[in-house]
Amino acid sequence: MLASKILIISGFLSCLSNQVIAQEQAFVISVSGAVPKNKLGITLPHEHILVDFIGADQVNANCYNPDDVFVRVLPYLQKLKQTGCKTLVDCTPAYLGRDVKLLQRLSRASGLTILTNTGYYSAVQNKYLPAHAFTETPEQLASRWITEAEQGIEKTNIKPGFIKISVDAGPLTTVNQNLVKAAAITHLKTGLTIASHTGNGEAALSQIKLLQQNNVSGKAFIWVHAQNEKDNQLHLAAAKAGAWIEFDGINSNNVPVYITILQKMKAAGFLKQTLISQDAGWYHVGEKNGGKFQQYDTLFTVFLPALKKAGFKPSEIRQLIEINPQEAFAKKVRPQ
Ligand SMILES: [Zn+2]
Repeated sequence: MLASKILIISGFLSCLSNQVIAQEQAFVISVSGAVPKNKLGITLPHEHILVDFIGADQVNANCYNPDDVFVRVLPYLQKLKQTGCKTLVDCTPAYLGRDVKLLQRLSRASGLTILTNTGYYSAVQNKYLPAHAFTETPEQLASRWITEAEQGIEKTNIKPGFIKISVDAGPLTTVNQNLVKAAAITHLKTGLTIASHTGNGEAALSQIKLLQQNNVSGKAFIWVHAQNEKDNQLHLAAAKAGAWIEFDGINSNNVPVYITILQKMKAAGFLKQTLISQDAGWYHVGEKNGGKFQQYDTLFTVFLPALKKAGFKPSEIRQLIEINPQEAFAKKVRPQ
C-alpha cells in the first residue's frame, strides 16, 4: 500500500519535473531539425563548407557538382569529428553559395550537427545582394526570411538555425540599415540569433543600437569577425550591451594574437560572451577541385593546447567551445 502510494507520488513528481524541463528546454535548429541546446556539444560557430564569390547576379547552383563537393569536403568533416567536435555552424548565406541539401547530406554522412542560415550579405559594396534587396522594405525582406524559418529553405523542409547578415565598416548605409531592421523583425518573430559579418567596431555598435531601437536586445547579436577591430574598448562596449563577441579567424600562424585577445576578454569578465572559430574550409566554386582547403581541426590540435599552456583552465575552455555556442544559438526571443 505504502509502496504504491510512493510510486504514485514519485510518478506525479517526475511528470511535474518533465513539464518544468519541457518549459525550460531551449532548442537549436540544425539542417536535420531541432536539437536540444545541451546536445550541441563542442561547436565551431563560424566555418564554411562551400562559397561562390561570383556575385548575386551570376551565382548558380549549376556551377558545381554537389557530388564532387561532397567527396572533397567529407574527409575534413570526419577529421574534425575525431577531435570531439560535434557541431559546425555554416555561415555561407544565400547568394554566396548556400546549399542546404548539400549541408544536410554532409551532416548525415559525417555525424556532425550542422547549422545553416537565412538573411542577406551586404558587405563588399552589396556585390552579394539580390536586386530586390535594394527596393523592398525591411518588413518585406523579413517576410522572406521568416518564411524560410517557418516553412523551410528553397522548397525543402530544412530550416535556418540563425540569421546571417553582413555590413562593411561604419557608418551604416541605408541598405545596411534595412538588413539590420529586417533581422530585428525576423528575430522577434522567430527567436533566431543574428550573426553579422561586421567591418569594424563602429559598425558593430551602430548595429546593436539599431537593434535596440527596434526592440531587440544586444544579447541576440553576434559580432562576427570582431578581430577586425583592433580597439578592445569597442569589443567591451559591445559586450556591455549584451552582444556575443566572435573572434573567428584562428589559424596556425596567428595563435599568439588570439591568445592575447582572449586574455583581454577574460580580464574584463566577458569570457562568457566570447566565441572562437576559424572561418575555415571551403570548396571554392570555380576553382579546380574546389581550390585550397583550410582544414577545420587546427583550433583543436594547435590553438586549444596553446591556450591551456597560456593558463586558461579546462572550465574556461569548455565555456568558450561548448557553453557559449549553445547559449548563443539557442532559439529564443530576446526583446530589448
Ligand atoms: Zn565567414
